[in-house]
Amino acid sequence: MEDRKKTKRPRGIARLIPGKCIACGARCQSSCPKDAIEMNEQGEPTIIVAKCIGCRKCLKVCPTDALEIYLTPEEQKIIAELAARKKAPAAEEAPEVTEEEAALLAKLREYRGVWVFVEQTAGEPAGVSWELLGVGADLARERGEELCSVVIGDRVEHLCLESFAYGASKAYIIDAPLFHYYRTEPYYKAICYLVRKYRPEIILMGATGLGRDLAGAVATEIQTGLTADCTGLSIDERGYLLQTRPAFGGNIMATILTERTRPQMATVRPHVMPLPAKDTSRKGEIVSEIVPLEEADIAVKVLEAIDERKAGEVDVASADIIVSGGRGMRAKENFSLLQELADELDGVVGSSRGAVEAGWMPAERQVGQTGKTVRPKLYIACGISGAIQHLVGMQDSDVIVAINSDKNAPIFEVSTYGIVGDVLKIVPALTKRVRELRAKGVDFMVERH
Ligand SMILES: Cc1cc2nc3c(=O)[nH]c(=O)nc-3n(C[C@H](O)[C@H](O)[C@H](O)COP(=O)(O)OP(=O)(O)OC[C@H]3O[C@@H](n4cnc5c(N)ncnc54)[C@H](O)[C@@H]3O)c2cc1C
Repeated sequence: MEDRKKTKRPRGIARLIPGKCIACGARCQSSCPKDAIEMNEQGEPTIIVAKCIGCRKCLKVCPTDALEIYLTPEEQKIIAELAARKKAPAAEEAPEVTEEEAALLAKLREYRGVWVFVEQTAGEPAGVSWELLGVGADLARERGEELCSVVIGDRVEHLCLESFAYGASKAYIIDAPLFHYYRTEPYYKAICYLVRKYRPEIILMGATGLGRDLAGAVATEIQTGLTADCTGLSIDERGYLLQTRPAFGGNIMATILTERTRPQMATVRPHVMPLPAKDTSRKGEIVSEIVPLEEADIAVKVLEAIDERKAGEVDVASADIIVSGGRGMRAKENFSLLQELADELDGVVGSSRGAVEAGWMPAERQVGQTGKTVRPKLYIACGISGAIQHLVGMQDSDVIVAINSDKNAPIFEVSTYGIVGDVLKIVPALTKRVRELRAKGVDFMVERH
């Protein structure tokens, strides 16, 4: 029998909707992973059709929805052919499936819907959960399935309502004093109980300390696949979840599939996915469940909860403006120049791993693959070369300003504005100018789109 030819489902090509671009500063261009966008003199994008892969990243960052995806006539033909094949596969085209494979496919088809675990501490949600509802909505739409949230805790019903505002249409809740504090055992048992009862196809969790612990325990118990720290999630032509993450020290991106087990599980770090718009008028269905678990069944007891965050500690991950320094700052003392600029901009100081390893900055300020993932409105990279492990942690910032004495430094490839020169001269000059403008009443905070 002849091999069945697989036709890839076309993803379309981006194009500009005339009259809608406001020349916001080439966000679309810097978001494009394939360099498929060039800017014309008016600051509007021109799509290089041969390079565009229809990934929609430019659509997501455009503040005025000035870009859309269209299908070429050839692509429309492929879609029509695929649809016809799906409805009535020709006998000679139908793939041969063994009994074992048919049983497996039937089993996989029992799993439906996209679930997002809503992480909370004392009723306070972790922002990453809402970010996951954004990407979860895209996946659910592609699969034609429901987007659901999973809320576990003690007096946490308000989180179901908040999850509806961020796009969930159903919330599974397990609400009992037993779940007041996070403990691996009751939480993973509660999720496994829900999974066995409702069979979701996809589960997403935040790649936080809690999420990593819980996701691993659930995947082990259910015996399914889990991909940690994904930076991209999409659906392939078979309907499987494509889980993309950096591998081999960030030098390549690996796309991982869970082919034979369900649910397909993935964790995503905070700020990797954009926060979807909140609409408090959205409503949904709450499904309340009781897990047959008693306090006596749980080995771990919480005697005391201590908040280890020190007063005044800087949280780089949630800052709107970050002035980050690397080895190009030359010495620890020079970081005071960055602090001065950050103070003027109401921002915080971050750093590369190079600066952390030199002992100039504490590890919690490190941005990148093994540091924090950040998505500020403004990221100023000072004397940072732009190694891939740094870029994966900051390249989705709204505006990136890079200052480097080497005009060929890779950081310039992701920057919105680049300044070639000595950082020790440029930063004080910038601080002075910001101070002058502030004195004139200029506000540097811009709305995030
Ligand atoms: C598994 C793994 C994980 C990693 N995780 C991270 C991570 O999370 N975050 C991270 O940052 N790195 C990470 N790294 C390290 C990364 O590969 C780079 O080594 C690191 O980012 C380099 O830091 P840097 O840019 O400060 O230093 P360098 O690469 O040394 O760059 C210094 C830059 O400063 C410029 N410069 C020098 N003097 C001046 C001046 N006077 N004015 C202006 N510019 C000047 C130079 O041209 C150069 O581009 C990781 C590496 C591995 C293998």
